[in-house]
Amino acid sequence: MAFSVRALIADDDKASAKLVEVLLQKWGIEAVVAHDGLEALEQVMQPEPPSLLILDWEMPGYSGIELCQKIRQIDMANPPYIIICTARDSAEHIAEGLNQGANDFVTKPFNTQVLRARMEVGRRTLELQARLVDAMTRLDHLASYDELTGLLNRRALFERLHEDFSRAVRTESRLCFSVCDIDWFKRINDKYGHPAGDAILRQLGELLSQQLRPYDRIGRIGGEEFLLLFSVKDAGRAHKVLERIRVEIERFRFEFEGRVIPVTMSFGATFVIPDERVERVEDYFSHADQALYQSKEKGRNLVTFFDNCV
Ligand SMILES: [Mg+2]
Repeated sequence: MAFSVRALIADDDKASAKLVEVLLQKWGIEAVVAHDGLEALEQVMQPEPPSLLILDWEMPGYSGIELCQKIRQIDMANPPYIIICTARDSAEHIAEGLNQGANDFVTKPFNTQVLRARMEVGRRTLELQARLVDAMTRLDHLASYDELTGLLNRRALFERLHEDFSRAVRTESRLCFSVCDIDWFKRINDKYGHPAGDAILRQLGELLSQQLRPYDRIGRIGGEEFLLLFSVKDAGRAHKVLERIRVEIERFRFEFEGRVIPVTMSFGATFVIPDERVERVEDYFSHADQALYQSKEKGRNLVTFFDNCV
C-alpha cells in the first residue's frame, strides 16, 4: 500500500486554498486548510500533525517563511515536508525560502502537473524519513533491551540508574539496590539443557517484573544475574520486599516442555539514602555484589544486606 500523508494547506486567499484542496482530494491526499499563519501553526502543534505543509508566503499572523523558521526550531522525530507557494519567483526569494527550512518551492499560479509531481516528491521523502525513524527506533530498542527476557540490558540499565539516583536525591526518596543471581544455574543448564535455561530466564524476567512496580528498575546484567532498584521507606521494608520476591521464586513452578524445574535465587542488597554523589552508583553495585557473595557463601536462596556483612 502506498505510504499516505496528510497535508496542510495554509493560504489567506480562500479561492487558491480551495483550488489546492480540490486537487489534493482528486489525488487521494487528505488535507486540512488554514487561512492564516496562526491557524497553520496551531495545526502543526497538534498531537498528530499533518506531515506535508503547503504554505503561502504572504499570510497574516505568520508568513510562510516565519512558519518555516518556527517549525524548524521544534525538535520533532518526524519533521514535516514544507512547500512554500508564492507569486514571487526571483532567485533571491527561492534561495531565502529554502535557507529558512523549506524543502521545496511552487510558484503561483499553480501548474497542476508540477504541483502534483512536487507533492509526490514530498510524499516519497516523508516515506523514507518514516522508515529511517522506524529503523532507528528498532535499533535503539535492540541496543537497550535483552532479547531473551525483554528487560533492560546492562549498559542501558546503568545509564538509567544515574537518572534514578538524581531523581531520588530531588524527591528525597530512599532506594533498595539489589543484585540477584539464580542458584546453580550451570547445573540447571547441564541437567535440562540450554533451552530450558533460556525458558527459566524468560519466566524469571516476567516474575521479577510482576513483583516490582512499573516505575522500579529491573534489568538483566549478566548471564543469570539481575539488578533491581526500587524506592522504599526504610531498610526493614526493603528486606521484606526482597524476602517476598525470594519466596515467590522458590514457590513458582518454572516449567519447560512439561517438566517442573526447581529454581531459587540469592540476593545481595544495600539500602541507600541518595545524596548528591551520584557517582556512588558503582559503590552501591559493589556493596550489593559483596552481599550477594555472602548469600552464596551461606548456602544460597538467601537475602543478605551489605550492612550485615561488613
Ligand atoms: Mg497570501
